[in-house]
Amino acid sequence: MRAIRKDFLPLSRPSLGEEEIQEVVDTLRSGWITTGPKVAWFEQRLRDYLQVPEAIAVSSGTAALHLALLGAGIGAGDEVITTSMTFAATANAIVLTGARPVLVDCEAGTLNLDAGAVESRVTEKTRAILPVHFAGQPCAMNEILDIARRRHLLVIEDAAHALGAAYRGTKIGAVGDATMFSFHPIKSITTGEGGLVATRDAEWADRMRLLRFHGIRTSAWERQAGGKSPLYAVEAPGFKYTMMDIQAAIGIHQAARLDGFIERRTLLAERYREKFSQIEGVRPLAPVAYPVRHAWHLFVVELELEKLDIDRGEFLDILKQRNIGAGVHFPALHLQPYYQKAFGYRAADFPNAGRASGRILSLPLFPAMSEEDVDDVAGTVEGILQEHRKP
Ligand SMILES: *Cc1c(COP(=O)(O)O)cnc(C)c1O
Repeated sequence: MRAIRKDFLPLSRPSLGEEEIQEVVDTLRSGWITTGPKVAWFEQRLRDYLQVPEAIAVSSGTAALHLALLGAGIGAGDEVITTSMTFAATANAIVLTGARPVLVDCEAGTLNLDAGAVESRVTEKTRAILPVHFAGQPCAMNEILDIARRRHLLVIEDAAHALGAAYRGTKIGAVGDATMFSFHPIKSITTGEGGLVATRDAEWADRMRLLRFHGIRTSAWERQAGGKSPLYAVEAPGFKYTMMDIQAAIGIHQAARLDGFIERRTLLAERYREKFSQIEGVRPLAPVAYPVRHAWHLFVVELELEKLDIDRGEFLDILKQRNIGAGVHFPALHLQPYYQKAFGYRAADFPNAGRASGRILSLPLFPAMSEEDVDDVAGTVEGILQEHRKP
């Protein structure tokens, strides 16, 4: 058996440098720690990076999705089409607006929303299509946008995995009508917790800004430092979804390092792909056939379980015993008790998502990983497959 590595290799670890630390210290000393000038600076960085006129920073990716949907006026009686192969937050945000999440299957190879499955699910209640760029690889946006234009639907993208990705030369964030990003520590860049919506639509952006802060147009910072009156008007029953300057302080410097992070992730992912092309019993996700920049948020492989005498849970346990972390992104939503009970989904509904759900695992991938770490993971996976091959 291959020697077990001495230190535990986690699934992911954020790369935080001295600049992030100093900016947080500067914020703590400044006398203003919540939403203020650093959030404005962070939003400016992302507008410039994404080349979109509007970027609204919020407290999480989930909050960003919720606001994007509410800002589009989506609510009770409406339907939003999304994929079963995603994190709970995607569909939960739809449910929390009062709308119905209409799930469709994913493609078997990429696990991206299957654009070909969308049109037959469009009804007169459908308001939006919500694709998820799985693992950071962009969905077939031309096909999705074409359906949306013909059927008068919005395209709201869950790009929690895809900051820095591009579809046919356009950055994700500037492709659909509104795009959500997450800055949870596992994602491409982090603010601790945080999220953002990017859009070209100034009125939609205005509604999201209103709803992120109690339905009040002027922030406390603008009233204290911007010379605005301490009086305020409540225009809607808004949320408290604001990002703090402490969070934005981290994000400002993370954003500057994003392209470097993606280059490093790409190099490590290419190395994984090359290793796994020589290993029987495990298959990385397929690349798409159109030109993209993959953000490589996750490195997901599918196990050929019929060849093994262990299941996926046992495989994960053995990996952990050998000091390698892993994850499952994601158990399909149509298999979840809430979605079955509330919307009548059944296990057999979406064969690709259902099949992948029981076989996929995400292997360690983060910028500070070394090439030797990749070799270690691939070698350990190969070893487990050999030890547990059915006779
Ligand atoms: C992480 C994630 C979210 C939620 O983002 P948070 O910042 O954790 O709220 C939504 N959708 C997908 C696909 C994600 O991976």
